[in-house]
Amino acid sequence: MTEKIYLDHAATTYVRKEVLAEMLPFFTEHFGNPMSVHSFGREVAKHVENSRETIAECLGAKPKEIMFTSGGTESDNLALRGFAYANSKKGKHIITSSIEHHAILHTCEALSKEGFDITYLPVDSEGFVDPKELEKTIRPDTILVSIMHANNEIGTIEPIEELGEICRQRGVAFHVDAVQSAGVLPLNLKELPVDLLSISAHKFYGPKGVGALFVRNGIRLKPILLGGGQERNLRAGTHNHVGIIGMAKALELAVSEQQEANLCISKLRDRLIDGLLEKIPESRLNGPRGNKRLPNNVNVSIKYIEGEGMLLHLDMLGIAASSGSACTSGSLDPSHVLLAIGLTHEIAHGSLRLSLGKENTEAEIDKVLEVLPKIVANLRAMSPLYQG
Ligand SMILES: *Cc1c(COP(=O)(O)O)cnc(C)c1O
Repeated sequence: MTEKIYLDHAATTYVRKEVLAEMLPFFTEHFGNPMSVHSFGREVAKHVENSRETIAECLGAKPKEIMFTSGGTESDNLALRGFAYANSKKGKHIITSSIEHHAILHTCEALSKEGFDITYLPVDSEGFVDPKELEKTIRPDTILVSIMHANNEIGTIEPIEELGEICRQRGVAFHVDAVQSAGVLPLNLKELPVDLLSISAHKFYGPKGVGALFVRNGIRLKPILLGGGQERNLRAGTHNHVGIIGMAKALELAVSEQQEANLCISKLRDRLIDGLLEKIPESRLNGPRGNKRLPNNVNVSIKYIEGEGMLLHLDMLGIAASSGSACTSGSLDPSHVLLAIGLTHEIAHGSLRLSLGKENTEAEIDKVLEVLPKIVANLRAMSPLYQG
């Protein structure tokens, strides 16, 4: 068996050793509850607050604008539900896009059953939301707009600055799901017209089960978890202090290495895209090219075969990829993102996402370029749809 190749970094990443080293003493030595008044608690509370400062600095925020959560899903839920419930007297209209993560879309569906009115903005063939469309859709009763920074399936980077500017002019709050972009793309909340922003540590080489929500000073939210008084009564529950400390270290490292890492990874990305499109007949790239695409994202549709078939064959060779998103694989529905950019069900089914990370090498990319065209040719030879 040769070395395995991991190309599913959009689903999750490993914890970097520097991050693990930072976390380890906090499992055993420094274990106090940061809400406790004794020295064990105070010691941990100090580190939790230092982590808050680090994360705030990485994002251009103030420390008190950072709320710790259990990850991207909870941050998205708290942003939408928390804002909707606290501000429903002003209106009940919420705008989002048709290509958001399910943490947003399913929360919107639930809110719509509770009497909120949701508009889903369409996207163009590369996955971009049109700011003019947003402008037309805002109504007097619109309270919140939620648009992701970068799409987890096709890598499209949305024009959040322009979208946020429109929201600001119209007095509407703006939430951004930045789970795929935090650590990868520059984020300066001092200047960005964004009111709420979600991040999750396990997407940038930190631990799973910990995230943060940026809540701009003055934005009112209603808590969705009730209990203790943590996070200034906004998010009850004993702090995952080990996770918080790991998240801060991981984000700090990611931001400091960002430019260099993006240069390397986007070169590998383009090598993979160009190679796949050249070697596989009747294949197409989903999402844009160049600097409006996440530096680590490749998503291709390959006609006449199923993404799941390609995944299984790649997995047998030790290569980990994804079809659509991790959340939809396992179900037979084609990806809502691929349908939203205008693919047919049939073509959407034949899609593969390969998401790169900092440990991937050119040799690994070349290995994929060697084996995937063969897998495709074999699957097509068995496909009744293909008359090659
Ligand atoms: C992974 C992801 C989430 C969910 O984050 P978790 O920390 O896994 O709950 C939300 N939004 C996007 C865009 C993601 O990629």
